[in-house]
Amino acid sequence: MCEQGQIVIYIQPKYDVVHKKIVGGESLVRWLHPKFGMIPPFKFITVLEKNNYITRLDYYVWEKTCQLLRYLKDKNGSVLPISVNVSRVNFYTTNLVSNLLKLVEKYNLEPKDLQLEITETVYTEEKQVIYSIISELQEAGFKILMDDFGSGYSSLNMLKDAPIDVLKLDMAFMRNLDNENERNNIIVESIVELSKKLNISVVVEGVESEKQVNFLKSIGAEVIQGYYFSKPIPTDEYEKLIEE
Ligand code: C2E
Ligand code: CA
Ligand code: CA
Repeated sequence: MCEQGQIVIYIQPKYDVVHKKIVGGESLVRWLHPKFGMIPPFKFITVLEKNNYITRLDYYVWEKTCQLLRYLKDKNGSVLPISVNVSRVNFYTTNLVSNLLKLVEKYNLEPKDLQLEITETVYTEEKQVIYSIISELQEAGFKILMDDFGSGYSSLNMLKDAPIDVLKLDMAFMRNLDNENERNNIIVESIVELSKKLNISVVVEGVESEKQVNFLKSIGAEVIQGYYFSKPIPTDEYEKLIEE
């Protein structure tokens, strides 16, 4: 699939609603099938995770992302960071730290250009193994985003020692906001406040409406990722968007 150019990356911008500017993006994989059209990741990621092929797909996406970062840096002189997803399998079957370091070196990038998203459930697995690898990545200069925070078994207690630079609040919080769930809103507000005190940045996922944006502004959450600002878009569209 990769060799035939059927696997491509789309970028979804992250947007600062207060300063009204793009602050980076997330790289999301797409399978452009010649017969079936665009196949979304949920249809193939779980299968690839079962047979460990996911590490090859992830690596391919990271490399495509580095190529894009290099291209944009050459063109514009500087580049906004783009995050990539790091599947749990990488922690158990690959030399994650050295693979990522070699990759950024290959494209003469800095580790801070390529941010790493690790889903919260990974943090609840073999804590010692996972925490030490993530800490090594941080020491090497990579920024770590905890993805889907609040969707699974994470607890606030985890925040006391988990290596994290940025919390990505799961989309479910925005769905519940639409359902006028008062407790949900108090929880979102508290997480944002707590993160600030802990020096952890927040990105809110799945933001689709003005109402959600106004609520987030009112509680001091600045960075969003969601259809309100932009869907994931092809790399050439992202290039145009950041240059506007
Ligand atoms: P994710 O990492 O949580 O990515 C966010 C997903 O939410 C994306 O779905 C994005 O298109 C969608 N989304 C963004 N804003 C909105 C919104 O406002 N409303 C709604 N309803 N959805 C929104 P996508 O691209 O289908 O990806 C689904 C999942 O597949 C990702 O969730 C991630 O877990 C996984 N994935 C995608 N690319 C990769 C990859 O390269 N490697 C790995 N391991 N997983 C990937
Ligand atoms: Ca993600
Ligand atoms: Ca997410």
